[in-house]
Amino acid sequence: MILTLVEHDAGLPDEVSLEALTMARELAAAEDTTVGAVVFGDEGAGTAEELAPYGVDEVHHVVHDDLDGYAPEAWGDSLAQLVEAVAADAVVAPGTDRGHEVLSHAGVTLDQPMSANCIGVDVADDGGYDIRRNRWGGSLIEHATLDADTKLVSAAEHEYPIEKADAEGEADVTEFTPSLDDAQLRVRVDRVESGDQEGIPLGEARVVVGGGRGVGGPDDYDQLEELADLLGGTVGASRAAINEGWRPHDDQIGQTGAKISPDIYIAAGISGAVQHMVGCKGAETILAINTDPEAAIIQKADWAVVGDLHEVVPELNDAIRANG
Ligand code: FAD
Repeated sequence: MILTLVEHDAGLPDEVSLEALTMARELAAAEDTTVGAVVFGDEGAGTAEELAPYGVDEVHHVVHDDLDGYAPEAWGDSLAQLVEAVAADAVVAPGTDRGHEVLSHAGVTLDQPMSANCIGVDVADDGGYDIRRNRWGGSLIEHATLDADTKLVSAAEHEYPIEKADAEGEADVTEFTPSLDDAQLRVRVDRVESGDQEGIPLGEARVVVGGGRGVGGPDDYDQLEELADLLGGTVGASRAAINEGWRPHDDQIGQTGAKISPDIYIAAGISGAVQHMVGCKGAETILAINTDPEAAIIQKADWAVVGDLHEVVPELNDAIRANG
């Protein structure tokens, strides 16, 4: 069995987990085995109906009196116990911070190596995995061989498409109760507070308007907000703008921020540092607005306007409004 860690919100699987299921299905087909999902949380069993169309045969719902919220070590150890209970061949996790944290804890417990941020995995004749994976936020692709009793891999965000399988019905749900001790629950989510962010989450937006240090201050984001509104999109920012305190941290795009894959990314006043670009390389089209014709982003963009964003963006907004 190829087990897949599925993150969900009230029983609705998130996009990156569905991407990970595409990888899991490919591996299961190559190894002639089944796909299982492992879910945590009170509403985990609710994923069964959602996951069956993605080729999940069995949902393993981890239940434990003390596991009502995220607890990295306890989740990792529960996953390891489940791997042993079902004799899983491999575990696929979404390439998120949480996916990596849980998988690495499981790796320690199982004493197995883990390969993170994979963008392609082939099963070799000897059963090992030939892996291509993103390093340095995707600026380098590493080829590696993973030879282990239980292979632990994560699917890099937005590298695998979300695809339904040719499957119907509902997956079987089995409850799994791990044995945990207090030490594994030292770190746990105690309460969740929702952020201030409104509108479409960056990772899901079809149009993203990013603003960097060139925007010049928090108030000047109004023009970018207006452009995003007109195009039905959302606003993001570079780390420099976040560090200035102009935008909330949730808006950050890049290596240490959100990975976006919109139809169009409009980057205004952003230089195009490699740490920023790895967050937006999934964009279909990049339009850069920058005063400096030598800026790195101008070379990397599909389209560029060399000019002051404080003039270009309002003109763009007027033109869009004029054209209805
Ligand atoms: P700058 O580099 O200062 O560029 C500003 C740009 O605006 C310039 O190109 C300038 O020509 C242009 N400009 C100025 N005025 C105007 C105007 N009026 N109109 C139009 N253009 C104008 N960065 C990220 O963004 N995301 C990350 O996740 C991230 N992670 C990092 C992780 C590590 C470990 C490290 C070391 C760095 C990371 N960085 C990240 C920082 C990154 O290296 C850059 O410093 C940052 O992206 C620069 O932001 P910027 O382009 O907004 O600012």
